[in-house]
Amino acid sequence: MEEKELKHLLDKVKCELKNIGIPISNDISEIYVNNRTKKRLGACKIEKGIGKKPVYRIEISHVVLGCTEDEICSIIAHECLHTCPGCFNHGKKWKEYGETVSKTLGYKISRTINTEELSIETSLNDEKVKYIVICNNCGQIYERKRMCPLVKEPSRYRCGKCGMTLSKAIKSTTSCR
Ligand SMILES: [Zn+2]
Ligand SMILES: [Zn+2]
Repeated sequence: MEEKELKHLLDKVKCELKNIGIPISNDISEIYVNNRTKKRLGACKIEKGIGKKPVYRIEISHVVLGCTEDEICSIIAHECLHTCPGCFNHGKKWKEYGETVSKTLGYKISRTINTEELSIETSLNDEKVKYIVICNNCGQIYERKRMCPLVKEPSRYRCGKCGMTLSKAIKSTTSCR
């Protein structure tokens, strides 16, 4: 599988997910290959896009390019599900969608997507953590590079755009391994 084919697979998987009513984001900006990481096969990143609305980027480990097309699509679907409202984690809602996708489309969606030999690698993820606070009311996104009062207690702050109280900070990357 070549890197450029990933884009087509992403488009295909996005269509399939939408067709069965999975509310994935319309703002998945790209899919790209990470040539260094073996620790995780996929990741979903959220960041500020144009107009400060969140956009999602899907990262696939280069290791994955050696998988079958079906396996790659399963990983892409797994990552796309993280862009559904309230699914930027491996929690209940994400799992429910995953089960629907597994049943309907036949992709294998599981919480962990590492292979046995990959799981041996336990070195810490040295990636810089970023934090994100999204306004639940207007979707404005606030990025912080480190822990700060806004990240710690967003409920003490109001959205600069709409004035509503902010809630809950999240890390900017969901690692899938
Ligand atoms: Zn707002
Ligand atoms: Zn995941």
